[in-house]
Amino acid sequence: MQYLEFLSQVKALCPSNNIIEDPLRTLAYGTDASFYRLIPKAVIKVDNLKEVTHIIRTAHQFSVPITFRAAGTSLSGQAITEFVLISLGNKWQQYEIFQEGKIIQLEPGIIGAQANKYLAPFGRKIGPDPASINAAKIGGIAANNASGMCCGTAHNTYHTLHAIHCILADGSQVNTADQDSINAFKSTHKTMLEALSDLANLVKSDTLLRQKIEHKYRLKNTTGYALNALIDFHDPIDILAHLLIGSEGTLGFIAKVQYHTIIDEKHKASALIFFESMQQACAAVSTLKKTPVAAVELMDWPALNSVRHHDVINQTMSQLNEGACALLVETRAQDQALLEQQVNHINRALREPCNLACIDYEFSQDVGLCAKYWGIRKGIFPAVGAIRSTGSTVLIEDVAYPVEELANAVKDLHGIFDKWHYHETVIFGHALEGNLHFVFPQSFDTAADLERYAGLMEDVANMTVEKYQGSLKAEHGTGRNMAPFVEREWGEKAYGIMQKIKHIFDPTGILNPGVILNDNKNVHLENLKPLPVSNPLIDACIECGFCESHCPSKDLTLSPRQRIVVSRELSRLANKPEEKERLLALEKDYQYQAIDTCAGCGLCSMACPVGINTGDLTRHIRQIQNKPHQSKAKWAARHFEGSTQVMKIALDSANLTRKVIGNNTMGKLVSKVNNLSKGKVGEWRPSMPKANHWLKQTTQSHHRYGKKVVYFPSCANRTLGADPDQNDKRSLTQLMYDLLDKAGFEVILPKQVADLCCGMPFQSKGFFEQAEQKRQQLNQALVSASEDGKWPILFDTSPCINSANHGLADNLSAYDPIRFALEHLVPALNIQKSQECISLHVTCSTKKAGLEQNMLTLANQLCENIHLPENITCCGFAGDKGFTQPELNESALAGLKQTIPADCKRGVSSSRTCEIGLSEHAGIPYQSLYYLLDEVSETRA
Ligand SMILES: Cc1cc2nc3c(=O)[nH]c(=O)nc-3n(C[C@H](O)[C@H](O)[C@H](O)COP(=O)(O)OP(=O)(O)OC[C@H]3O[C@@H](n4cnc5c(N)ncnc54)[C@H](O)[C@@H]3O)c2cc1C
Ligand code: SF4
Ligand code: SF4
Repeated sequence: MQYLEFLSQVKALCPSNNIIEDPLRTLAYGTDASFYRLIPKAVIKVDNLKEVTHIIRTAHQFSVPITFRAAGTSLSGQAITEFVLISLGNKWQQYEIFQEGKIIQLEPGIIGAQANKYLAPFGRKIGPDPASINAAKIGGIAANNASGMCCGTAHNTYHTLHAIHCILADGSQVNTADQDSINAFKSTHKTMLEALSDLANLVKSDTLLRQKIEHKYRLKNTTGYALNALIDFHDPIDILAHLLIGSEGTLGFIAKVQYHTIIDEKHKASALIFFESMQQACAAVSTLKKTPVAAVELMDWPALNSVRHHDVINQTMSQLNEGACALLVETRAQDQALLEQQVNHINRALREPCNLACIDYEFSQDVGLCAKYWGIRKGIFPAVGAIRSTGSTVLIEDVAYPVEELANAVKDLHGIFDKWHYHETVIFGHALEGNLHFVFPQSFDTAADLERYAGLMEDVANMTVEKYQGSLKAEHGTGRNMAPFVEREWGEKAYGIMQKIKHIFDPTGILNPGVILNDNKNVHLENLKPLPVSNPLIDACIECGFCESHCPSKDLTLSPRQRIVVSRELSRLANKPEEKERLLALEKDYQYQAIDTCAGCGLCSMACPVGINTGDLTRHIRQIQNKPHQSKAKWAARHFEGSTQVMKIALDSANLTRKVIGNNTMGKLVSKVNNLSKGKVGEWRPSMPKANHWLKQTTQSHHRYGKKVVYFPSCANRTLGADPDQNDKRSLTQLMYDLLDKAGFEVILPKQVADLCCGMPFQSKGFFEQAEQKRQQLNQALVSASEDGKWPILFDTSPCINSANHGLADNLSAYDPIRFALEHLVPALNIQKSQECISLHVTCSTKKAGLEQNMLTLANQLCENIHLPENITCCGFAGDKGFTQPELNESALAGLKQTIPADCKRGVSSSRTCEIGLSEHAGIPYQSLYYLLDEVSETRA
């Protein structure tokens, strides 16, 4: 391996900031969801095909192993490497839809759920449906041949593949959707294609081997290469295309996939059905297999116990005896009549001649209830993860058996768990396909732990393969975890064919070596990930990566998972004096990478199956770091009005200066001052408004209305005026008075409003005590202004109410701007919808409050043409971070401008500081949604 030569050639083409070699980020970016740990020498973020082709060619030339990475949610150790990790970064988002949604072409960086959003208007979706679909990307879904609860074997990538565009180990490429590309490839790769045809002929002519392959793919199977490609196809191009599916990055890079999509049936009914024993549940599965069911998910007694706190099953659980289990059954149809027929069919099958279920059940079409059923099922893996003892990991195995053998196989599995003392093991899975997952907590601290795990794996492998001819990896991919068992499952001859396949595609073995095929029979027991106790706020993390795509800092510095990985490593190193140098190297970058650039938005918690808010960890660390500055925080809390006055003076003089010297020079000037002040001043933003001097200090005098509202303007709106580029020059506070007046509300302003604060500016910096004091002070002021809850209270800023809510008395009716507009303003006004195209930004606080849909509803009530940009989560402005770390805001909104349609000239949101960054990065002014409401509304006669 000539690593240095490789790197210097790569540096010649790829941007230097996309090549990462420092210890903190190689560790962080190198981690995936598996329980293995390898730290890459380098991580290269690739932006386009040209770069990937160059890297592969160079790797080939200098024999440097490379591993591709999509979302890193793999569980079997296939997405990690000790060599060079090629990460898809945030690009690779192009897609095209053909034949009214029947075919979709997707680049590998697109998240599976996003692909389904593109297809939703056509009533279609992609076939693969892994439980990780909200995080996993197309590259990984195709390269793992992932599947899930409904897709079975029929709708995985292998069976729904229309075409593939790939780069092979020699840097050549073929796009099977393009005849010219196929012809060119055929002329340059004659030998390779002949070798594949020979292999296919060999397998087809070997009756026993062919039968074995046919038998094995009746079940879900991702152990080894897709040998079915050799018997399903004749054209070597088709064989090549299908061998790439499930090849886990060991045969080539997938640059585009074209899928045949499937119908997304809109009418669905689900039932949670309980059985006295596993035997009875498995018998029911065989019965259900002959009925029109879309999914049948099995949950054993320990699985049910792990989620028994859910209100839907809590009562039922107390009626069941130990050993009972449940099936979650779903049926789907394109129309209601058919759905009802299907439900009757299933019920008859389960109830006649005798009732198989031990408690009566009903199919439900209630979306909320069905979501709860599925929430129970999806919550099992994380539930085991969350309750495991700290320092242990949670392992998930993924086997499949013929459905008719399911009951016996489960019995045998329990026998093996008892033998190796895995008493906490939970079994659940896609019973319709005979696919079971078993999940258990596991420590790897001692040799005995390792021996116990090795024994379990050995017994499970023998039982699955020899007794049931099952699959050892039904859907999660072989990786390193099952590589030692591929030959045992497939036999010597088939294994030899797999070795030949690898040699044909990648003769020098540069593509993800050690994955799928590995001569080391102990590779599944090596390089195990340490999971040291770190901080109770994050110890439950299972490193699944579900939070990553939601994080505004993921493309600038770290994602939430990566922050946790580094925090854990720092905890581990704290007890290792011999690794002091590494500790210092990580600590050096930790402050900026993990702490300074976390927006604290908490969006990560919304996607986290174990409810971790990495922002809480950041605030906790800031609290420790800011202890020496407590007195300043106390002073600021006590003199809040004074601090905002100083801000206003600064804003006014800055705006005067801007008038004279212009935005650019102003930016440079402030940047210099900021550098001299070591970041205390903050950076200049071009959309920085003038100060807001308009605020009524007393309650409106006229009492002509019956309705009153307490209006609490946030400190941002009390300080900042309107966006300099918008037509309406009124500050939001002035507009609010006008609008509320129009809607017939008398406005009550809390006393000494200039001194009030929701606590967030203090909370976000870890000054928890001052945050609490400010919340209490605000609560008292609101109790008094609302006459002890008599009047509703309107917050004009979404993040503000989220923070204040923690301290508000129960009897207060506090409203965020969205709910108040929907419930109190829109019904009180005449609305003449705007026809203009307007961009909408939903703040992270609105999302966290569960009001995203409400905000969209409100916007759609005010405007015919609302544009909701894709893939923008939190704007990263984070109060004052937009001034102190403007690069976070810039990175979070990097793709925004391109998504704004040409006819869209302005945007709306519900947080003044967010709007400053949005205006700058979208290139159009953003303002509160209330400006739009005011514009399109009139007083009701
Ligand atoms: C909680 C949890 C639940 C899960 N549930 C399921 C499930 O129900 N069903 C299921 O099948 N899986 C499941 N998985 C496993 C995993 O999420 C899926 O296999 C997923 O498809 C992996 O996609 P990814 O984007 O994370 O790929 P990665 O993990 O990044 O990569 C997967 C493999 O693909 C290779 N690769 C990535 N991009 C490319 C490319 N462009 N070209 C070639 N090779 C590439 C990588 O080298 C690696 O070998 C689950 C994982 C977790 C953590
Ligand atoms: S924080 Fe939650 S979502 Fe993120 S990796 Fe950990 S467990 Fe998964
Ligand atoms: S709080 Fe926000 S910025 Fe911080 S890790 Fe979570 S999602 Fe990322």
